[in-house]
Amino acid sequence: MSHVLDLTQEERQAQIVEEAERFAAEQIGPRARVFDEAGVLADDLIQDMATRGYLTANFPTEYGGLGLDPVHYGLFQQAIGKADCSTRTLITVHSALCGESLLRWGNKEQKELWLPRMAKGEALAAFALSEPNVGTDAKSIETRYRKVGDTYVLNGNKKWISFGDKADLFVVIAGNDQGQISAFLVERAFPGITTKPLKGMLAGRATHIAMIEFDNVEVPAANLVGNEGGGFTYVVSTALDHGRYSIAWAGVSIAQEAVNQMGSYARERKQFGKRLAEFQLIKGIIADATTETHAARALCLKAGEMRKSKAQDAVMETTMAKYYASKVAMKVATDCVQVHGGNGCISDYPAERLFREAKMLEIIEGTSQIQQEIISGYALRKYTKACNQ
Ligand SMILES: Cc1cc2nc3c(=O)[nH]c(=O)nc-3n(C[C@H](O)[C@H](O)[C@H](O)COP(=O)(O)OP(=O)(O)OC[C@H]3O[C@@H](n4cnc5c(N)ncnc54)[C@H](O)[C@@H]3O)c2cc1C
Repeated sequence: MSHVLDLTQEERQAQIVEEAERFAAEQIGPRARVFDEAGVLADDLIQDMATRGYLTANFPTEYGGLGLDPVHYGLFQQAIGKADCSTRTLITVHSALCGESLLRWGNKEQKELWLPRMAKGEALAAFALSEPNVGTDAKSIETRYRKVGDTYVLNGNKKWISFGDKADLFVVIAGNDQGQISAFLVERAFPGITTKPLKGMLAGRATHIAMIEFDNVEVPAANLVGNEGGGFTYVVSTALDHGRYSIAWAGVSIAQEAVNQMGSYARERKQFGKRLAEFQLIKGIIADATTETHAARALCLKAGEMRKSKAQDAVMETTMAKYYASKVAMKVATDCVQVHGGNGCISDYPAERLFREAKMLEIIEGTSQIQQEIISGYALRKYTKACNQ
């Protein structure tokens, strides 16, 4: 009986992913270039996605989500990401970084207040950790908070915050003078907040990326997420783990779209009286790109299965998936530009945008170097033994 129920659940989730693929191909993909050039994501699309439950597909249904398990949530993000990286970024920061942090560490009142509003698109959320002077070394953040009666007063600056110029709610990470780091729910409407859009971005041009200034912002004590002092160990760790899983799938989506684009172009374009797809050297590029994309997807699926079964090393597998898939995305997107020749260098073709978006994946949610640090530490613990035995 439970087998039948499991199958039904699987089928329902697969159906949601299939519908999302269709929606993304019809409603998002054709607008990706417009979003990129205008530097904005359309409100009508955000509302449409909210109505379909896509903004919080990972949330339990009781909070207005679609209840996707990690594997199907990954496939869902792949579908959106293939159509447009900026739209997928909204889903990453809103549902993965902020949503999963609240689901895991928010109290009952915070969840009941914010999660349904996030699902309906009434409150878009952004995650504010990075600062002008602090990125990789995130524990050294300079944004400060102090407790004054029943409020926490925040001062400082955040930088690179995706959807920072659009979000209604921020999950803000700040430290106090006693060395504690804490997480707060901060509403845009609180007095003392200024956001300033960052222009001239290489990628994520339609992600409303911004600087945020907090000038004596009074945050009610009830908006502390988790325990005071647990902001880094618990909230940031949860957010980055889910963010990395999302970015791993973003890598697969860019790589797959790059394979689609290079293959389609190679079948059309003729030189020396032949189609590009007939030249062995071009076939070699396509073969490698396809193989690497499949390998990255396999790693993401493995990480998804491990997350679903709550396997012990799921976080490490996710880290490897993020590291590898973002590297593959960069390599395959570069090859995609190469196959397009000059046409790979102009925005008339998606190759150019995929190339720019791929680079960003090697930087966000922890750079490739920091993933290598983490993975090598794991390998040195797990796979080594004393040489003289
Ligand atoms: C498009 C975009 C969107 C973003 N969105 C958000 C967001 O929504 N919220 C948010 O909080 N942040 C966001 N960020 C910030 C992002 O998380 C940081 O850019 C990232 O963590 C790297 O920090 P940094 O840019 O300060 O680089 P730095 O930390 O200054 O690193 C510079 C270089 O040094 C290397 N490096 C640093 N330390 C080491 C080390 N110990 N060993 C080896 N190499 C090292 C890095 O790998 C990198 O190559 C975003 C950034 C971008 C570009």
